[in-house]
Amino acid sequence: MINHLPAQKNLSNTRLPVINQTGQSWQRQLADSIDDIDELLDILQLSALKASLYLPKQFGLRVPRGFVNKMRIGDAHDPLLQQVLPRMQEQVTVTGYVTDPLAENSANPIQGLLHKYRSRILVTVTGACAIHCRYCFRQHFDYQSNIPSKQQMAEIHDYILAHPEVNEIILSGGDPLSVSNRRLIEQLKVFESLPQITTIRLHTRLPIVIPERLDEVLLAYLSHSRCKIVMVLHTNHANEVDTHTANYLSEAKQAGIILLNQAVLLKGINDTLQAQTELSHKLFSVGILPYYLHILDKVSGAAHFDIPKYQAVKLYWQMLEELPGYLVPKLVQELPDQPFKTPVDLYQSR
Ligand SMILES: *Cc1c(COP(=O)(O)O)cnc(C)c1O
Ligand code: SF4
Repeated sequence: MINHLPAQKNLSNTRLPVINQTGQSWQRQLADSIDDIDELLDILQLSALKASLYLPKQFGLRVPRGFVNKMRIGDAHDPLLQQVLPRMQEQVTVTGYVTDPLAENSANPIQGLLHKYRSRILVTVTGACAIHCRYCFRQHFDYQSNIPSKQQMAEIHDYILAHPEVNEIILSGGDPLSVSNRRLIEQLKVFESLPQITTIRLHTRLPIVIPERLDEVLLAYLSHSRCKIVMVLHTNHANEVDTHTANYLSEAKQAGIILLNQAVLLKGINDTLQAQTELSHKLFSVGILPYYLHILDKVSGAAHFDIPKYQAVKLYWQMLEELPGYLVPKLVQELPDQPFKTPVDLYQSR
């Protein structure tokens, strides 16, 4: 379960919030996200869609207004809209789709810490996200009991000291950038204080859905970090990156942050050669390199986004033919028992 995010009240460490075209700080935009289906359908002039939707009790509709602005009015097949619409199909039970597809609940030595891959540790900073992606593999994850408290941050610190093979920290969630700068910087300081840590990575979708999140305070802090800072964004379609978004990403780039992207292969959203090449070229044009293209994790409620493996492989061969090597993301899937993201076998099903 992912929490519904309360309005962010703590602005103490933020200077004057950066103002966007709509005149709203990122905190306001986060608090003002659309969670009412009628309002969303009304804005997009798609009220007729209502009959194919439902109102989830948990992990409900949640989408920032700026992201909605990137959707096409009147287009029920809009690739951005598809990612957030709670469809009736979510309620259909499909064999093989489960609530914890990665068996993460068992790689969890301390609350908030996942240590599945030898040299990297993943810390779930928060359960909150600015947007609720319907295919999210962590939508049923028990975050409530998985956010580290102060005490547990101390335990995580000691755990890392006892594991000298760890040299990289990945802040994830939820979305690690949905917390205040004050809280985030507090945590970054803990990790920066460990000499063995060379790299800090942020897995975040926030700069795509609310670009103003890349505010001055955050970028100034990150640009002076002792560690290499890598931001792995999550963008599935070229339309998610407009000029406004690109301007903020360029600030991040200037702050010395390495920008990568991970996408999920989603039926009807980005499962064509055109969608994938446009995405790679758009990312590159704003300074982001494609990193991973994930095969959908078999999480219950997301079966309608899945495509057969052989189709994914076929598409990938086409991408290899069409794109320069540095714009082809690695096609991977996450298997519960593997100590890395597993490359999809391109020959087996050709
Ligand atoms: C994806 C992931 C990582 C990072 O993997 P990379 O291949 O280094 O990007 C680390 N830990 C967990 C639990 C992950 O799911
Ligand atoms: S931003 Fe990531 S973690 Fe949050 S709902 Fe979307 S896929 Fe899940």
